[in-house]
Amino acid sequence: MAMVPRMACRFVAAAIVAWLGTAGVSSYAEDTAPATARDARLAGDELRTRFVMDLSKPVDFAVSTLSDPYRVVIDLPQVSFDLDPVAGREGRGLVSDWRFGLFAAGKSRIVLDATAPVSVDKVFVLPPVSDQPARFVIDLVKTTREAFLSEAAETAEQARAERAAVARKGDRLKPQDDETRPLIVLDPGHGGLDTGATGAGGTLEKAVVLDFSLLLRDKLAETGRYDVRMTRDTDVFIPLRERVKIARGHQADLLVSVHADSVRIGRSQVRGAGVYTLSETASDEIAAALAERENRSDVIAGIDLADEPDDVTDILIDLARMETKKFSYFFARTLVDELRGSAELVKNPHRSAGFRVLTAHDVPSALVELGYLSHKLDEKLMATDAWRNRMAEAIVVAIDRYFARRFGAAHVTLSQTAEAAESDVTGAAVQQ
Ligand SMILES: [Zn+2]
Repeated sequence: MAMVPRMACRFVAAAIVAWLGTAGVSSYAEDTAPATARDARLAGDELRTRFVMDLSKPVDFAVSTLSDPYRVVIDLPQVSFDLDPVAGREGRGLVSDWRFGLFAAGKSRIVLDATAPVSVDKVFVLPPVSDQPARFVIDLVKTTREAFLSEAAETAEQARAERAAVARKGDRLKPQDDETRPLIVLDPGHGGLDTGATGAGGTLEKAVVLDFSLLLRDKLAETGRYDVRMTRDTDVFIPLRERVKIARGHQADLLVSVHADSVRIGRSQVRGAGVYTLSETASDEIAAALAERENRSDVIAGIDLADEPDDVTDILIDLARMETKKFSYFFARTLVDELRGSAELVKNPHRSAGFRVLTAHDVPSALVELGYLSHKLDEKLMATDAWRNRMAEAIVVAIDRYFARRFGAAHVTLSQTAEAAESDVTGAAVQQ
C-alpha cells in the first residue's frame, strides 16, 4: 500500500510534468490534432489489473474514482477512438468492462467498471519508441471499500469543478429571438462513450437515435412553424442533467427525447414504439425498468450521482407544478394517437416513470422509444428511410396538433383535456 498514491490526480500531474521534461516532447505539445487510439487491452488478474491503450501520440490525462458502482474515470483531451465500437464489453481481472467516447466538446473519457474497490497504483503515458506507439497505462490493485471511498472523496473536488465547467457551457445557449414560434428541443439519447442499447445486428442506439433526430429536426424546420434546437447533433456524451438544462436554457416549449430500447435475450419478441412521460412512480414494471436503463446514462459516463447539487432537489420539488405535467401528458397522448397510424406500438404505448431527462419543471417533456433494437424487424426498419420518414412525419403532425391545441383557439379547454389525459395515463388500464 505504501506506494499507492493517496490522490490519483496529483500523482498524474506529477507524472506529466516529469514526462514533459524529457527530450523531444515539446513537439507533441505543439501538435494540436487529436490523438488517435488504435488499440486497447486488459492484462492481469483479480489482484492487479493493467489497462493499456495505444495512442498516435502522448496525451494529457486526469484520473478519478467513483463508488456505487465502483468506477475509474480517465479524462483525456479529445481523442479519436479508432476502436471496435463494442471493444470494452469483455472484462478481465478487476475490470468487468469499459467504455470510451467523446464526453464534451474537446474532451474524451474512458470509464472502467471495477468488480471490487480498486486503487490506482500507477498511471502514466509512454512516449512512442521506435516502432512502438505511445501508450496510456493504468494499473489497478484491489483495495478495501474504506480506502476506495477516501480516495474517491479526494478526487471528487476536481470532478465537481469539471462538471461545473461542462454545465457552464449550457449558459451560452441563447434563448430564441423570434418569440412567436414555439421552440422545440430534440434530445437524441446517449452519445459518445454511452452507446445506449446494442441491436441484435449490432446497431448502436446512440447512432440510430441521432440519425432519426436530425431527420426530425429537418422536417420540423421545413414547416417554418418551429425553432428547433438539439441537445446534441454529433456523437458526444451529454449528461442527463445537462440535457434538461439545455431545454430550460432555451426556454423550450417542448422537449422530445429520442431513444430505441432493447431487452435481454429471451424477450426478443417485444417490439414497437412507445411514449413516456415523467412520474415519481412508474405506471408499471416495464416502464420502471426502462427508466432505470435510460437513467444509467450518467453512471455509464462516470458522473457521480451521489453528489447532486441543490437545484436538482428544487427541480424535483417543482415537479409538483401540474401545468407542465399536464402538457406533457397531453402531448404524449397526441403523439400516441398519431403514431398508431404509422408504426407498430408496444402494448401500453403511453407509460410514465422516473426518467431523469424529463425533469424540467417548466418544459413539457416526453420520451419516445422508436422501437426495440433487440427485435430484428424493428432494428431493420429503423435503418430504412421509408420507416424513418413515416415516423418523423407522424411526430411532426402530433407536434402540430399539440401546439394548435395549446396556442390555438382550443387553448381554453386544454386544461380539461390534459386532466382527462392524465387520469387515463395513471389509471390501471392504459391504451390498448
Ligand atoms: Zn436509450
